[in-house]
Amino acid sequence: MKTQILIVENEEATASTLQEYLEIVGFQSSIVNSAGEAIKALNTGNIDLVITDIKLGGKDGLDLTEEVKKEHNVDVIVMTGYSEEYSYENAISKGASDLIFKPIRFEELVLRVKRVLRERQLTQDQIEMMGKLKQLAITDGLTKLFNSRHFYNQLALEIDRSNRYAHALSLLLLDIDYFKKYNDTYGHIEGDKVLVKLGQTINTCLRSMDSAYRYGGEEFTVILPETKGEEALAVAERIRSAVETENFSPRSDTNVPITISVGVTQFCPKEKIEAFVKRADEAMYLSKEKRRNCVSSLFKN
Ligand code: GH3
Ligand code: MG
Ligand code: MG
Repeated sequence: MKTQILIVENEEATASTLQEYLEIVGFQSSIVNSAGEAIKALNTGNIDLVITDIKLGGKDGLDLTEEVKKEHNVDVIVMTGYSEEYSYENAISKGASDLIFKPIRFEELVLRVKRVLRERQLTQDQIEMMGKLKQLAITDGLTKLFNSRHFYNQLALEIDRSNRYAHALSLLLLDIDYFKKYNDTYGHIEGDKVLVKLGQTINTCLRSMDSAYRYGGEEFTVILPETKGEEALAVAERIRSAVETENFSPRSDTNVPITISVGVTQFCPKEKIEAFVKRADEAMYLSKEKRRNCVSSLFKN
C-alpha cells in the first residue's frame, strides 16, 4: 500500500505544490486546511504521516501535533515561515519528528519525509521483534505449548489472584504412559511427533482462560483458573479420553494407542507453590500405580 500523507496547510499554493512533489516521488497525499479537519481525517485511520504548518486558522500545528501523538500512532513533520518564533526544540517537545522552515526546499522535504518514514519502519520492526522474542522465551520449541519457566510464572500469578479474590484454582499434571517403550520401538523422532500431537489435543480440550505447558520431557501441566476440583476432574477426563481415541501412526501400517496418566488437585489458600505442584505430581503417580490411562485426584483438607 502507498504511504498516505496528510498535508495540513491553509495556504493553498504551498499545499498543492507540496502535494505535487510528494506524488512525483510516489507518496499519496490529501490536503486539509485546519487542525479540526486533520483530526477528522486521522480518525479514518489511513494516515501514515502528517505534515502540518504551525500557523493555521484556529488550533495551531503544534497543538495538533501534541494531540496526534497522544491519540494516534502517526509521525508529524511541522513547517513554519516564522523561524524567529519557533525552534526545533519547540516542535520536538510537542512530539514532532522534524521541523522545516519556509520557503520550503522540496527536495530537502522529501528527504526528511523519507528519513522519518524509515525510522518509523525501524521502530515498528523492533517492536515486532521484541514481541517475537518475548513469545519465544515462553514457548516450548517442539510442542509450541508454553514452557516450564512460563508455567511457574503464570502459576505464581494465578496463586496470587486466588489468594486475593478467594477464587478457586486447579492444576493438572499429565504424563505419557510407557513412553520410553514407544521411543525405543519407533525412534525418538516418532516420539517427538506424539508430543506435538498431544500438545494440540490438550489445547482442544481447554477453555480460553486455561493454559497448557510442557512441564518436562513427556510431562504436561494445565492451569485451570476459577476452577474447582470437580470441574478440573471433568477437564482431565476429557483430555485423557481425547488422547486415548487419537490416532498415532509411527508407521503407515501401524496404529499405536497412546495413553496418559493424570493427576488433579485444587489450590489450598496460602499454601506454597511447591506444595501445590507436588500434590498434582503425587496425584499423577496414583494414576500410574492404579492402572495408568486414568485420572486421580488429591485434595488437601
Ligand atoms: P511411565 O508410564 O511410568 O511414565 O513410563 P515411561 O516410559 O513413560 O516413563 P519414563 O520416565 O521411564 O520414561 C520417559 C521417557 O520419555 C524417556 C524418554 O524416552 C521419553 N522422553 C522424554 N523427553 C522426550 C522428548 O523430548 N522426546 C521424545 N521423543 N521422548 C522423550
Ligand atoms: Mg515422566
Ligand atoms: Mg511417562
